[in-house]
Amino acid sequence: MKAINHFYPLLTQPKNVVVTMHQKPDGDAMGSSLGLYHFLIQFGHTVTVISPTNWAKFLQWMPGIDKVIDFETQQHKAQTIIAEADIIFCLDFNVLHRTKHLAKFIEQANAEKILIDHHQEPQIQAFAYGISNVEKSSTCEMVYDFIVESGNANKLNLTIAQCLYTGVMTDTGSFRFPITSAAVHKMVAHLKELGLQHSIIHDNIYDNFLENRLRFTGFVLLNRMDVLYEYNAAIMSISKQDLQQFNIKTGDTEGLVNYLLTIEGIKFAAIVIDREEERKWSFRSKGNFDVNIFARKHFEGGGHVNAAGGRSSDTLKNTTNKFYEILKEYQQQLQ
Ligand code: 5GP
Ligand code: MN
Repeated sequence: MKAINHFYPLLTQPKNVVVTMHQKPDGDAMGSSLGLYHFLIQFGHTVTVISPTNWAKFLQWMPGIDKVIDFETQQHKAQTIIAEADIIFCLDFNVLHRTKHLAKFIEQANAEKILIDHHQEPQIQAFAYGISNVEKSSTCEMVYDFIVESGNANKLNLTIAQCLYTGVMTDTGSFRFPITSAAVHKMVAHLKELGLQHSIIHDNIYDNFLENRLRFTGFVLLNRMDVLYEYNAAIMSISKQDLQQFNIKTGDTEGLVNYLLTIEGIKFAAIVIDREEERKWSFRSKGNFDVNIFARKHFEGGGHVNAAGGRSSDTLKNTTNKFYEILKEYQQQLQ
């Protein structure tokens, strides 16, 4: 993978460009992809944003999201566009399989693949150019840097600002996590100068749910939370029936895992959700307990030191029991 600055000269030559991100895109994946979209179209590129799957309703306000292709519902169209692409930008994921069923088409495509990402241990041999930096708060911050460092700060506009603010806000826990650097605040100051009204974005993302989601949150906190003080850990295991009972949709469970870390002394939080085709784990930690390593070692996943995800094809009961078993090995580390 060549450093991203080798790609700058190619920016000005109009091409067929695809921008894609990890499955079930969050604010950072969708924000960085749409921010990049609104930047690239200014050069006359033909740009298509393709999501591997559907996304949360709380992202639906984002400028340009109406043009995003959901690979799962428009597979044929997406395949053609990928096959004809000259360049594929891969944002906010480190390994191709994070794009689920899209992965094999990206792999087979003749296009030059470009990585912009901040997860641990990227699959760099899969990319022609790129930048991977685990010190960065978000891929949105990296897209901002890409725009500025390629000498195109003059192309930043309010639309791009709205997209990029979304991801930097969601990935830093609203500027709270230790990764939030001075550079992040400087970037936000710049976005404000472009006319960004940040409160509107917070409202769109965090205050735009249906009643059922809040009642579900209450239900699972009361009935599905297990606090393991001897490990400074807490876990929630959520069944399909729980999801159905409250009519829970994509995105409604995002952030749930963070509640566990609000308990005094809890350093490690885990949540497993019985999704359609797999059991999906989310891990969070405070301090130096590395959930990326934990997820990678035991649950086919990865991510960052303090936030990672994983999966299992086993039943909810079995994968939950496996977690309890494994936890014993970590008792000392978690003290
Ligand atoms: P979440 O728990 O919110 O789904 O994910 C937490 C962080 O870990 C995010 O940055 C997400 O992109 C990453 N992540 C989630 N699942 C996986 C996975 O299966 N593999 C890898 N490498 N990263 C993941
Ligand atoms: Mn991210």
